[in-house]
Amino acid sequence: MAFTSVKTLLDGYAKQDLNIEFWEYIMLEDMKDQQISRTESMKHVQELMSVMKQAVQNYDANQRSASGLSGGDGAKFAAAQEAGHTLTSGFIADAIRIALTMAECNACMKRIVAAPTAGSCGVLPAVLLAYESNFGAEPEAFIEALYVAAAYGQIIAYEASISGAQGGCQAEIGAASAMAAVALTYLHGGSLEEGANACAFALKNMLGLVCDPVAGLVEVPCVKRNVAGAVNAIAAAEMALAGIQSKIPVDEVIAAMDEIGKLMDSSLRETGKGGLAATLTAKKIEKALTH
Ligand code: SF4
Repeated sequence: MAFTSVKTLLDGYAKQDLNIEFWEYIMLEDMKDQQISRTESMKHVQELMSVMKQAVQNYDANQRSASGLSGGDGAKFAAAQEAGHTLTSGFIADAIRIALTMAECNACMKRIVAAPTAGSCGVLPAVLLAYESNFGAEPEAFIEALYVAAAYGQIIAYEASISGAQGGCQAEIGAASAMAAVALTYLHGGSLEEGANACAFALKNMLGLVCDPVAGLVEVPCVKRNVAGAVNAIAAAEMALAGIQSKIPVDEVIAAMDEIGKLMDSSLRETGKGGLAATLTAKKIEKALTH
């Protein structure tokens, strides 16, 4: 896809005279970009959705990552949910559980969908699959929502970054959260402007988030940050759907994220040297893993 900003995406769609839906406009760009047919493009997106579902279905509560730092927390949360001990219920509780589950699958080297990255793979499926089980929607709606999310992810990558090494965790979990917020807004019948506002809210709430993986592994704090990204996406979509508007236009928010990423010290950009990775406990973990 070759969208350079949210403004050009929305303006381009407004000007098109093909009488097509927004997601189709994005799909046409994907077809052009990848030189593939409509069937091939849609098959690819359907495959992404089914990989997300399979990862959750095949979750093994006993599986642990090679480091031993990750695994089993998705099951713990599911047990708390079943026992009725959770503070939240329904949609939000399901989103928390799925975000944990997917991120643990990644840490345990299972097949996941990098959306936009492997480290942030839990955010988008968390909100999509929790939406499916709590609100229901036609399978096609999720494919459409994924196209819309993908366009926003591509724009964030173009205008700023989706790499923790380049822009900190705001670029990974932040971008995933923004994509999820847009997808949710779309699924719940929001307007294109509301989608743009949802993206702006989600990203604004994640600005400045550093990338500080303990022992350089995409596990701590990454797994739990997927939960934060998912819940943040729900809050952002809720605000946008209620008609609340971002005072800062979404493209300026993305530009601010880029600027903040450039100002971030390299110790806070996936080097495993600063932030949580530099704590006493993290150093002990690192030492234990390397000896
Ligand atoms: S802390 Fe770094 S490695 Fe972990 S999810 Fe965030 S950006 Fe990715």
